[in-house]
Amino acid sequence: MDFSEFLIRRKFFDSPGKSPTRRCISSRPEPQMRSRGKTPKKKGNSTQQDPVEVYCRIRPAGNPEDETCIKVLSENTVQLLPTDGATVRNGQVKEFQYKFQHVFDEYTSQKAIYDYVALPMVEDLLHGKNGLLFTYGITSSGKTYTMTGTPQDQGILPRCLDVIFNSINELQVKKYVFRPDKMNGFEVQSEADAMIERQRREILPGLTTPKTPTPATPKPPKFGEQARLRDMCKVDDIEEDNNYCVFVSYIEIYNNYVFDLLEELHYDPITGYRPPQSKILRTDNTENMYVHNCVEVEIKSPEEAFEVMYKGQKRRKVAHTALNAESSRSHSVFNIRLVQAPLDPRGEEVLQDPERVCISQLSLVDLAGSERSKRTDNMGDRLKEAGNINQSLMVLRTCMETLRENQKNNTNKMVPYRDSKVTHLFKNYFDGDGKVRMIVCVNPRSQEYEETIHVMKFAEMTQEVMVARATQVRFDIGLTPGRRKLHQQYKDAAAANEVAALPVVPSLVYSLGPSFPPMELLHSSDDKALRILEDFLNDRCNRRHTLNTDFNKKEEEFRARLVEMEREYYRLTSKNEQLMKDVEKKEKDMSKNENKVRALERKHEEFTKYIQTLERENSIMSLKLEDKNWKINLEKTERERMKHDFKTRLEMNNYAWEKNMVSTCSEQLC
Ligand code: ADP
Ligand code: MG
Repeated sequence: MDFSEFLIRRKFFDSPGKSPTRRCISSRPEPQMRSRGKTPKKKGNSTQQDPVEVYCRIRPAGNPEDETCIKVLSENTVQLLPTDGATVRNGQVKEFQYKFQHVFDEYTSQKAIYDYVALPMVEDLLHGKNGLLFTYGITSSGKTYTMTGTPQDQGILPRCLDVIFNSINELQVKKYVFRPDKMNGFEVQSEADAMIERQRREILPGLTTPKTPTPATPKPPKFGEQARLRDMCKVDDIEEDNNYCVFVSYIEIYNNYVFDLLEELHYDPITGYRPPQSKILRTDNTENMYVHNCVEVEIKSPEEAFEVMYKGQKRRKVAHTALNAESSRSHSVFNIRLVQAPLDPRGEEVLQDPERVCISQLSLVDLAGSERSKRTDNMGDRLKEAGNINQSLMVLRTCMETLRENQKNNTNKMVPYRDSKVTHLFKNYFDGDGKVRMIVCVNPRSQEYEETIHVMKFAEMTQEVMVARATQVRFDIGLTPGRRKLHQQYKDAAAANEVAALPVVPSLVYSLGPSFPPMELLHSSDDKALRILEDFLNDRCNRRHTLNTDFNKKEEEFRARLVEMEREYYRLTSKNEQLMKDVEKKEKDMSKNENKVRALERKHEEFTKYIQTLERENSIMSLKLEDKNWKINLEKTERERMKHDFKTRLEMNNYAWEKNMVSTCSEQLC
């Protein structure tokens, strides 16, 4: 049994109630409109706007005894105050307070800053949205430290890479399935084609391109080889039915020229390395700006990315100035592009449809020092560098000002993006192509007071600029959700021989034929192997075509059955609704009757109580009556006794009288 059969069995026997495909027919969502494999223009919805979010980070003072000119007042307010002897105007000390999205003091860890500022942008990247994050500040204020950090205390860039790979680890596509098309887009190819390309590029490279001789240079220390502490954070809610792939590019803008830091330098054994050619900026067919002919490297792990980064840093022209021997006089841009496309309906391979490819980009920019050139003791070339740096930062400032003015006064003044390469390259972001965040780095030394005021002013103004919010990217294109898991379940079941135990659906045999023939090329003109492979692929194509036709037919039948079920479902739903109404009415009647019964029961209870009281009173009265009767009887007996007594006495008296009378009479007679 193959996967399709398994899928159908699972759907019909395992979970008959849950029909995830119902959504496919009743409300098939409109997929987002896309150009062919290009970074989609995620123009924000003009009604929803967010300000450019500006954060402030204060680095620790180089020497703890140094006087400082900055004080953190609250979690989003800082105060800039001059130390003794600093500029005093009109007898008043210049003290300023600035408000930011958040202020990070000198004790804030790299991890805390990453979590607060950059992690939401990584989440956006994984959800298909773009983002621009840049560090701004004077030289030696901690821009590079914040952006890159050290292997033991990594900055934003390595942490972003860690979190991206922690999140997409299992969902990565095989190498070369996505290929840059050199016009800022990507092509998709089948896994079989990608495998052939892997073989061509990695297994047989010597046969196609002769190697140019390069001098043996000592390898730079690898980020991964030192005790690097990997950020273990992971973004959970990403689309599991998509396949992902990460591409990075690394450029430098120096003297208003764009250089590709990942381009191979041509080496001449006599003259040495040839100077690199500057690149031009172009607009792709969705009006996104990009660096034309820039090398984009596909990477599969953070370690690979660090190798690429170090290769670029090796090439980076770092001109040492009097302010900081390590500071860079150029702007550097590390671009992370995430390409994602849905799995095919079987949940097996990437869907071969460039329209469904979604490309999102996170640009991490480490700007050059923003100080004025006079402070740097620059001479000649250096002065020119500093001038251009300041000029490009000036243009950035003018762009922000114009944007803010346009938004405040509802005007449409032209924003001079084109006046510098930095602003021209990031123009899309300010036009509403994703979140823009800036970290303003501050060196608290009191000597930096004057320069820091300029930095703060720019930062405060920047946060008034509003950027349209990027729209949510919808990945649901109507295919069965959870197909990756389903396919995995099938594979697991097949491995455990459980598939045979499932109920049998007859006559469903989907197979693309036998497995691939051995594809090892013995030599470059191994025509036989190629012919076998060609025949095999042709056969496979034919089978695929037949299977597709069959699949489409079955899909139609399945759809028709679903429609029928849907109708039945609606009929039953309306019937159910009617019944529910009846039940509701009856329930109301019942509750009325219950109320009546309850009232009667209450009355009955009251009567019972009343009767009980009366009975109690009755028994008391009976006792009283008994008592009275007893008393009456007693009195009666007493009276009888007295009556009898009186009678006896009377008789005795009478008798005495009679006797007396008789004696008296007899005396008299005598
Ligand atoms: P910038 O890139 O702005 O010129 P750096 O990032 O190179 O400045 O910083 C200059 C020096 O200050 C470096 O040695 C760096 O290690 C140190 N530093 C900057 N910020 C911090 C911080 N928050 N904690 C510790 N050290 C820092
Ligand atoms: Mg730096």
